[in-house]
Amino acid sequence: MNKVILLGIDGLKPSQITELHMPNLYRILKAGTSFSNHHSVFPTVTRVNTVSMLTGCYPGNHGLVGNTMVIKDYDESLVVPALKPQIELVNEKIKSILLVPNVVDILSNYGMRFAAVNIGSSGNAYLHNQNLSDNGIVIHPEFTIPNTLYPEIISRFGEWPDKSQNDEARLKYAMKLFTYHVLDELNPEISMFWCNNPDSVQHYSPLGSDLSYKALSIVDSQIGELQKYMQTSGRDDLNIMIVSDHGYSTIKGVVDIDGFVKSKLFRAIKFEEEILVAPNGGSVLFYVNPYNRNTVNTLVDYLINQSWCGNLFASHEQGPIEGTIDVAKVGLNGIREPDLAMSFRWSNEFNKNNVGGAVYSSSGSIGDGQHGSIGPTEHRSVFIGYGPDFKEKNVVVNPTGNIDIAPTIFELLGIEVNIDFDGRIIKEGLINRNTISPSIKKESYHATRTSGMILYEQVLEVFVSDGSVYIDDARVF
Ligand SMILES: [Zn+2]
Repeated sequence: MNKVILLGIDGLKPSQITELHMPNLYRILKAGTSFSNHHSVFPTVTRVNTVSMLTGCYPGNHGLVGNTMVIKDYDESLVVPALKPQIELVNEKIKSILLVPNVVDILSNYGMRFAAVNIGSSGNAYLHNQNLSDNGIVIHPEFTIPNTLYPEIISRFGEWPDKSQNDEARLKYAMKLFTYHVLDELNPEISMFWCNNPDSVQHYSPLGSDLSYKALSIVDSQIGELQKYMQTSGRDDLNIMIVSDHGYSTIKGVVDIDGFVKSKLFRAIKFEEEILVAPNGGSVLFYVNPYNRNTVNTLVDYLINQSWCGNLFASHEQGPIEGTIDVAKVGLNGIREPDLAMSFRWSNEFNKNNVGGAVYSSSGSIGDGQHGSIGPTEHRSVFIGYGPDFKEKNVVVNPTGNIDIAPTIFELLGIEVNIDFDGRIIKEGLINRNTISPSIKKESYHATRTSGMILYEQVLEVFVSDGSVYIDDARVF
């Protein structure tokens, strides 16, 4: 049986994989199967997408609907950031922050193992094995699961290098740990490496700048180290799946959304309720506590009058909200669905380095990079498969998404899992599988609303393939 390496490259855009800037990754892309129509889930932020990869579910179903969010079954009056300390508190009270099993939980049933090295956020790493299964090892610069592993790592490999501008030293250390310790010594069925760049660098520098190219080349050289390991060790049992959680846009304006909403709507709402605002970079989740339909309508009227307002998705549990599209159409429905989710407005504008895709943002600086919105430069992401089970020199143009990663991993491991994933097995990229192409249809949703002189009009188009849904286009007019 072959094994799987999941290599996550945070914030990598498909267009950034060029022979000039990422020669190692470019060679893998050309040699294996590249999925040229791959999609993130919305909001296009890291933890939401990583959890979708590792559970095979939309955010509404797995329960982590934002990097910051209200966890209604935990505390309806609190906006929680998904970082390790907060996740641990949530887990203590409600058993698990995730509503479905992730790959570690599933593997445990088969006596198989998962091991990850992750130099991204503590919350992202912790969510790989938040139930602390014995079958899952997680290594992060600040902690390990199990925590007894941490001193052993330090004594064998030395202290973690400090964080730096592009984290070159950290990345080298992490890749050494990954090849020596995880692949060679632990040799789990699923191994995972999560690289925080180019995301970290792009958050404080323009796309297409020298700094961002340098970050790409540092990441690429470590991909080269991984390739070297695979060649010199003679491992021919490793399928490698290279993914990014989301793409990137350039910030065209910064909006203090919490301050704005609270100051403008203070008088419009009753004193006994509160609008909770959870900013997620290029998108915002809103919660009205306790729920009041009139307040949601007031909020929608306020938002559609703003130049930065993009697509609006609302909970339609208590009936449709005019002008909004049901959160279920973007996979955000479930017990933790936001009452309203707004993508900031995106456009095709180019930045000063001629990189396309611009968006308003709840944080950061104008001209620097951002993500989180439903714009195409953010929801289109990277997926490449390479190894014994993937077709060689192959391009799959059918829509695929981060929700397909877990079901495809289990297919590669030869496990028939009795779980109703939202994603599908991407058989069209694999050898010796039924190659009948899945049927693909397009669905479109349209909503309008008038407020004063403003006519707000939005559209959402999705691909539906084998029951899986991928965002194709979403815009306001
Ligand atoms: Zn980011």
